[in-house]
Amino acid sequence: MLQSTRTIGIVGLGLIGGCMALDLKQLGYVVYGVARRPATVMAALEQGVVTQASCDLSLMAEADVVVVCTPMATIVPTVGQLADLLPASVIVTDVGSVKGEIVAAATSLWPNFVGGHPMAGKAESGLSAAEAGLFRQRPYVVTPIETTQSAAVEQVVAIATQLGSQVYRSTPTAHDQAVAAISHLPVMVSASLLHTCLGEADVQVKTLAQKLASSGFCDTSRVGGGNPELGTMMAQYNRPALLQVLHQYRHQLDTLIQMIDAQQWDVLEQTLSIAQAERPKYL
Ligand code: NAP
Repeated sequence: MLQSTRTIGIVGLGLIGGCMALDLKQLGYVVYGVARRPATVMAALEQGVVTQASCDLSLMAEADVVVVCTPMATIVPTVGQLADLLPASVIVTDVGSVKGEIVAAATSLWPNFVGGHPMAGKAESGLSAAEAGLFRQRPYVVTPIETTQSAAVEQVVAIATQLGSQVYRSTPTAHDQAVAAISHLPVMVSASLLHTCLGEADVQVKTLAQKLASSGFCDTSRVGGGNPELGTMMAQYNRPALLQVLHQYRHQLDTLIQMIDAQQWDVLEQTLSIAQAERPKYL
């Protein structure tokens, strides 16, 4: 446990908030949780995920650090509400999957704000999917801007390190461009793959394909078959960066189509060889 932080508040006790609360409690912190629905408050207390829980945001006034783990659309409004409740010393951070707009708006409401993004997740959502150790050996990006107080950044880095994460620092813009390529583009590509298969006009072929689909299809369709609300929010909040990589991807597809159409097998093999050789750099 950190000397300067004994009590951590979590707003939003879903998958990410629940996982974080479990780990922080195990690390010895006093963890206060705020959920939207009373049923979630009850479940969090029954499961021992938090020390205290409430639907009332004023519980967060007791915390040294507050982590906002609500859906992206409600992060900035939540920081606005917290600003009326918290002593100025409290560090507020978030876990939103896109950083640019959120960090700018949240910092203007609460100067002691530090953007964060744990790069860990599951297909399921909600508190019932929460488990200990989700962030262990996963990247955790912290996205300070020029005005972010360095002491606050160090506190958030220290907490993420205690969760077992590999911490990276980046600007919000670079973060959003990187996650557009490695996280948001794959969701759109994988969903397009599923739609391509669903669009098969021959019912017999379509049914056979559904029966034959095996490990390769399982790997490549997993993220496209995940939480639609999260995928839509990624596109909504990271629109310019996602559009840029989608256009680059369409260009890649056109290049592959030309190679196959022109039967340029050597060129195709070279392209696939580069993909095979470079893939480990992303894993
Ligand atoms: P989730 O499982 O659906 O949980 C969201 C929780 O937020 C729900 O339990 C809901 O509470 C609560 N909530 C909604 N509005 C609220 C409000 N105004 N005040 C308090 N609580 C509120 O979603 P999640 O996957 O944990 O995602 C949460 C955040 O983590 C998002 O910003 C997302 O971008 C980020 N993130 C997600 C992943 C991932 O893979 N899932 C990975 C990294 C980061 P009730 O149960 O009370 O309705």
